[in-house]
Amino acid sequence: MTLIDGKKLSKKIESNITAEVKALKAKGVTPGLAVILVGDDPASHTYVTMKNKSCENAGFYSIVRKLSKTVSQEEIIKNIQELNKDPKIDGILVQLPLPKHIDTSKILEIIDPQKDVDGFHPYNMGRVVENLDAFAPCTPAGVMEIFKEYNIDLKGKDVCVVGASNIVGKPMAALLLNANATVTITHIFTKDLASHTKKADIVIVGVGVPGLIKEDMVKEGAIVIDIGINRLENGKLVGDVDFENVSKKCSYITPVPGGVGPMTIAMLLSNTLKAAKRRVG
Ligand code: NAD
Repeated sequence: MTLIDGKKLSKKIESNITAEVKALKAKGVTPGLAVILVGDDPASHTYVTMKNKSCENAGFYSIVRKLSKTVSQEEIIKNIQELNKDPKIDGILVQLPLPKHIDTSKILEIIDPQKDVDGFHPYNMGRVVENLDAFAPCTPAGVMEIFKEYNIDLKGKDVCVVGASNIVGKPMAALLLNANATVTITHIFTKDLASHTKKADIVIVGVGVPGLIKEDMVKEGAIVIDIGINRLENGKLVGDVDFENVSKKCSYITPVPGGVGPMTIAMLLSNTLKAAKRRVG
């Protein structure tokens, strides 16, 4: 069994990005990322701090606009519109989830698609589905980088994606299909989840249910990618896979933490760098 080291791979990608940023800066261009953080959700604050720190390490210009949890939709829109026009900002990220009184889809559609480094705007999502150049959502893009690094050929493979959200499962399925995999997408209403996962050469799970994928749900030699991030009551961070038992059957598996998580940030930096390079042609 090979334990996939997302931390190591993300460091490698980030160090290449840092070198590129240095070269760009010598030409007077500094990639800039703006994060909008609404409310006081501790997990969101942690993610934003991590993203901000990685940006600074890579030499980016990085700002965070913190808005109160009672902020109006109009106020968030106003902030995004300002950032859309700001020439120092190449990428805009609205940290999700937003408070319940905010229409998330509407907010994401306000972001200039050329600055949509999270890849959640329908414009970029559509381009991903059509296999055109786009900002692909960072987490699925990170998983694709893992396959590339570990020489895992997707062509003709049976892949079961568990979870079908707009930010994880759906774009993941599109990227896999673009790589000529045969993709099954499953979700909360899937009748017999195990019947799908058991047939798959590769299982990719991102649902937010600790231990959902058990050893009898994967076939011998399967590749298992765990996108889930769950904080247990005892403070431990775990994924959606019963790692201890499932890993015994796998050919490759990602740990949590240290698997897909760090790759998401590396892809955010990569998309922001791409936006900056596009800006200067
Ligand atoms: P979401 O709540 O928007 O979507 C969850 C999806 O899982 C839905 O499609 C739902 O139908 C499906 N689902 C829920 N329970 C299920 C079950 N019992 N069986 C089958 N399907 C089920 O969540 P999300 O934003 O897509 O995030 C999913 C998980 O991925 C969370 O744990 C989140 O923390 C994690 N995540 C990790 C990263 C990362 O960087 N590694 C990034 C984004 C999200």
